[in-house]
Amino acid sequence: MAVREELLKNIRTVEPYVPGEQPQEKVIKLNTNENPYPPAPGVKKELDSLDPADFRLYPDPASGVLVKALAENYGVREDQIFVGVGSDDVLSLCFLTFFNSEKPVLFPDITYSFYKVWAQLYRIPYECPPLDRDFRIVRTDYYRENGGIIFPNPNAPTAIYEGLDFVEDILRHNRDSIVIVDEAYVDFAGESAMGLIGKYDNLIVTQTFSKSRSMAGMRIGYAVSSPDLIRCLNDVKYSFNSYTMSRAALVCGAAAVRDRDYFEENIKKIKETRERAKRELSGLGFEFTDSGANFLFVRHPEYDGTRLFTRLKEAGIYVRHWEDERIRQYLRITVGTDEEMEKLFEFLRDYEETET
Ligand SMILES: *Cc1c(COP(=O)(O)O)cnc(C)c1O
Repeated sequence: MAVREELLKNIRTVEPYVPGEQPQEKVIKLNTNENPYPPAPGVKKELDSLDPADFRLYPDPASGVLVKALAENYGVREDQIFVGVGSDDVLSLCFLTFFNSEKPVLFPDITYSFYKVWAQLYRIPYECPPLDRDFRIVRTDYYRENGGIIFPNPNAPTAIYEGLDFVEDILRHNRDSIVIVDEAYVDFAGESAMGLIGKYDNLIVTQTFSKSRSMAGMRIGYAVSSPDLIRCLNDVKYSFNSYTMSRAALVCGAAAVRDRDYFEENIKKIKETRERAKRELSGLGFEFTDSGANFLFVRHPEYDGTRLFTRLKEAGIYVRHWEDERIRQYLRITVGTDEEMEKLFEFLRDYEETET
């Protein structure tokens, strides 16, 4: 039943973001870019030492232990870091805080689909310059007047990483706009734009614990910027929900950040599997972008994307697929363990397209 028109006219309605499926049965899950390996061992230790009696008490609203661990890790000041409930929370607050212009915010036509949802939800005007034929962001499209800019680097779902000269070029052409670089996958790619924060007062970099730190279920994300912009973000956050981070998330997150060796080893394994997957898929006739992420964006010239997606799912192998015109022949495949990837390759070796 629909909401009555008289009521509807006062309701903030939105076409929601559609998250990737989270099947409850056991499948080979290569559909939401989670990390196939567990978090650093220190995370379990922190969890084991939690005392439920402390759950009576609110957590530290400033998220001190986690902010401190991140500041030490990245060599920035504590007042340059903002943490939230996954980078989705951080990015959503960034939209609310920094995109407050009549001019359109710019982001690519093919990118993280949450951007459009937040823009609509908060009534922020936006424009989406198309990626070029090779799915690259066209930097000159971002030289025009705007109310802010956001793009992921590497971009999603294309997996393409652009070097820091690209990021810096966009920053240089937009000194009077906030530029947010969503680095959800940068640990699998190359250098972070964090190093440019001292040089550009309009830059915000966001990252997440969901991919490279194996903690999607804990919901931790963060932004790094100048103390001034971080203060703006905190002011909005405290006006919205002061206690966003649970006690468990704070201590577990800090433990994950402190174990650098584990982090690097984890990334190394995934990159190795990714490079193997490129060779294997290429041998099977697949084409793909040059991935700098923990996923591959692939198509096969002879297979229909929707059909292959469905067949894989029936075989218990979940990947991601969009019905969007430009990318409907593509699948986004998360890099899993070597064993998981082998199951995928086995399926693909035997795959023959049949009409149904
Ligand atoms: C996964 C992802 C996020 C958000 O991840 P969280 O789990 O909310 O931290 C943000 N941006 C991009 C591009 C992503 O792929």
